[in-house]
Amino acid sequence: MGKKHFALIGHPVSHSVSAFVNNQLFKFSDIDADYDVVDIPPMDLSNAYTLLRRFDGFNVTIPYKQSIISYLDSLSIKASTYNSVNTVKNCENFSKGYTTDPEGLIRALELSEIPLCGKVVVIGAGGAARAAAYEAAIAGCDTIVSVRTESLGHAASLIGDVISSVTAPQISSCTLDALIDNDQSIDLLINATPVGMYPNVDKCVVPESLVKRCKSVFDMIYNPLETKLIKIAKKNGIKCSNGLLMLINQAICAHNIWTGSKFDLSDIRQLIVDTEQKIIDNFKTV
Ligand code: NAP
Repeated sequence: MGKKHFALIGHPVSHSVSAFVNNQLFKFSDIDADYDVVDIPPMDLSNAYTLLRRFDGFNVTIPYKQSIISYLDSLSIKASTYNSVNTVKNCENFSKGYTTDPEGLIRALELSEIPLCGKVVVIGAGGAARAAAYEAAIAGCDTIVSVRTESLGHAASLIGDVISSVTAPQISSCTLDALIDNDQSIDLLINATPVGMYPNVDKCVVPESLVKRCKSVFDMIYNPLETKLIKIAKKNGIKCSNGLLMLINQAICAHNIWTGSKFDLSDIRQLIVDTEQKIIDNFKTV
């Protein structure tokens, strides 16, 4: 069997650590493969798709998680339900899309000992928020999708999708302003927006007064490792986690789909440490 080829597509993707994580995973599973990062400018997806068919598989990130769907031959049940694809497996004349973000998130919460229960606030209504809102609703949480006023339409469409596919979900939406004005406690706050991500590291999507009302906080961002939101949570003694464990666990699921690989826990522990260092080093060079 010849060398296999994989990639991440998105825009912009130049600061991604996905190539590092995925190439390490191929080393651990002793599979002769490479993993590249392909930046596809907006509007160019249809031209690029012919090239993408030549890969054995690829990952998909912002802004193509929905738009890739129309090019694929088939979808996993989860990808179809969540209307989001982050992993594609290509066979000779057939391509299938999957989403491993939900499993990555659930595994990251478990490893961080953050319970997915009670009142869960998901900030954002994009692809990652979709995974979080579905998983929270399926877990029976009182799920609130909170967005800026101009995104209420996106939140309504996400809630509509959850209601039509999850049995009796408890899910609603509100603006970030309404969430901030309210004084109720929150069991888990999930940031599924890019607010606070490099280079805008001084931004936090919610004020400290709201973070103080949370029992736990999960920030999907991993660049920087310690966002302003995570700093505020730590300062107030609130259990919290960044998005690195989610990134690594969604990649593990993708490898399982592509090659059936399983990994040793010791290798994954080392990968977490090495990826943290890689992110820190990337920061020093920018
Ligand atoms: P996306 O589809 O572009 O969605 C982003 C969401 O954030 C949208 O709802 C957007 O609102 C909202 N938003 C953007 N700027 C905002 C602001 N200033 N204030 C309030 N809301 C704002 O992106 P995504 O794929 O869901 O990713 C979201 C974040 O999660 C990114 O930081 C990404 O890196 C991270 N992520 C991490 C992992 C992981 O493995 N750790 C996996 C997936 C995603 P509009 O709809 O109005 O634009």
